Amino acid sequence: MTILFASDLDRTLIYSKNSRGQEVSEEDFAAVEWIDEKPTAFMTHKGLQLFQQIASSISFVPVTTRTAEQYNRVIGLYHNVKKPKYAIVSNGAVILEDGKPLAEWSDKVIAQMQQNSTSIEHVLPQLDTYIKNKFVLKVLQAESWFVYLIIDEQAFSIEDFEKLSQIFYQQGFTLSHQGRKVYIMPTCINKSTALQFVAERIAATTVYAAGDSMLDFDMVLNADHGFIPSHGEAIHKGGHLPPNISITKRAGVLAGEEILKKVSDYLL
Ligand SMILES: [Mg+2]
Repeated sequence: MTILFASDLDRTLIYSKNSRGQEVSEEDFAAVEWIDEKPTAFMTHKGLQLFQQIASSISFVPVTTRTAEQYNRVIGLYHNVKKPKYAIVSNGAVILEDGKPLAEWSDKVIAQMQQNSTSIEHVLPQLDTYIKNKFVLKVLQAESWFVYLIIDEQAFSIEDFEKLSQIFYQQGFTLSHQGRKVYIMPTCINKSTALQFVAERIAATTVYAAGDSMLDFDMVLNADHGFIPSHGEAIHKGGHLPPNISITKRAGVLAGEEILKKVSDYLL
């Protein structure tokens, strides 16, 4: 029996200072990422300990919108445990096997983007009108895969987001709003199909999955058991969530700890 635990990282397992919440005191945080020696992402000590127990007993697969380079900064996760064989980065456009991108996977994604006209060169001209809009501060690219906006949160309304989502949805994109960022993601770049590929490759019999955003929703929905943090964008998907999905009681970094406790209760 091969059990796979697939999890998003940011705002699911690891948290920035802004997203981690107020309930945990400074000494209970463990840093897991540093930029220029400054800690930038955290878990609770208890959460990190649970994570390391889980990752040393079953197949853990990180599934993140971070690029490979950004993912490789999260070294604190793996201080006492081997780095996982597989990591899904760039929101599913890239699958790392022993740290190296699988060309057979990414080539397929590139072909789909060309076919659907959703590659960056197709997106940028359409964004021109929005770039002049008051809420767009910057337009950034994640390697050659997708575009995301840095927005002025004060000037950006739910209506703005819904309008943008509708326009881009018809053209083959999924939008996700996460704090100061709005991702404009080609629908063919998704975590769910990349995870399916890895699950088949390792012949997983049971899949647990966790994630907070709309970019995680299908992966969580398709798992045998899925977890969504209560602060997550994905809980607003609407309608009744199926019984294989649990929403945490806690929010912020404590939601991450709660997910890890639940997974470890199932497994260990
Ligand atoms: Mg996330």
